[in-house]
Amino acid sequence: MRIEDRPSPNCNARRGGLAPSLVVLHYTAMESAEAALEKLCDENAEVSAHYLIGKDGAVYRLVDEAHRAWHAGEGRWAGREDINSRSIGIELDNDGTCAFEAPLMEALEELLRDILDRHAMPAKAVLAHSDFAPERKSDPGRNFDWQALARKGLSVWPEPSLKGDFMRNAAVFGYPIELGEKLVLDAFRQRFRPGASGPLDPADQAMMSGLARQYPADVTERFARRVPSRPLGLES
Ligand SMILES: [Zn+2]
Repeated sequence: MRIEDRPSPNCNARRGGLAPSLVVLHYTAMESAEAALEKLCDENAEVSAHYLIGKDGAVYRLVDEAHRAWHAGEGRWAGREDINSRSIGIELDNDGTCAFEAPLMEALEELLRDILDRHAMPAKAVLAHSDFAPERKSDPGRNFDWQALARKGLSVWPEPSLKGDFMRNAAVFGYPIELGEKLVLDAFRQRFRPGASGPLDPADQAMMSGLARQYPADVTERFARRVPSRPLGLES
């Protein structure tokens, strides 16, 4: 995979020595990759991501994975905050109203496979921005094909089962249930039942039960390996 470097000034150190344990997918909600690159590299905008993928499949690296990019904002997943310190952010060149182009999806699959491999992350580590900030965000939205990604082992898709309470299962999967059923149901449907509407129904309950049973959130924190600044035993 060819990656073009377009360094953004909008980054800092991951807090508390955290290492990435999640991947967050976004859409840019902009007209073009070039317009998005300009914004993501503008220090006054104070936003960035580690990667941006264009409609044509071009992959741009804006922030080194070792650093904390500014894509997630306020949010909570599996009870953890500061998602920026815990994640790798990928912006997808899509305005939020149309389908995601095939070359973009192919490049995303290749990039995700590489990231999950290198960081030894499971497929359940790949999240939508809307999953952990449903009160503010709805990207990558209902046009994004999560099931196709799951078929390639790059995301998860549940076997419906019938156990337990919807919100309790949502918390086990990772959703911020303190925001209430309506927002959690919206976020869940955007990703897993994009055609559904109306009140909570048995299909929602069965799928959330499957998610909780098969893919409980991993709440283990990961930390970057501390590399001594000088060889041990040679302190000056
Ligand atoms: Zn986003």
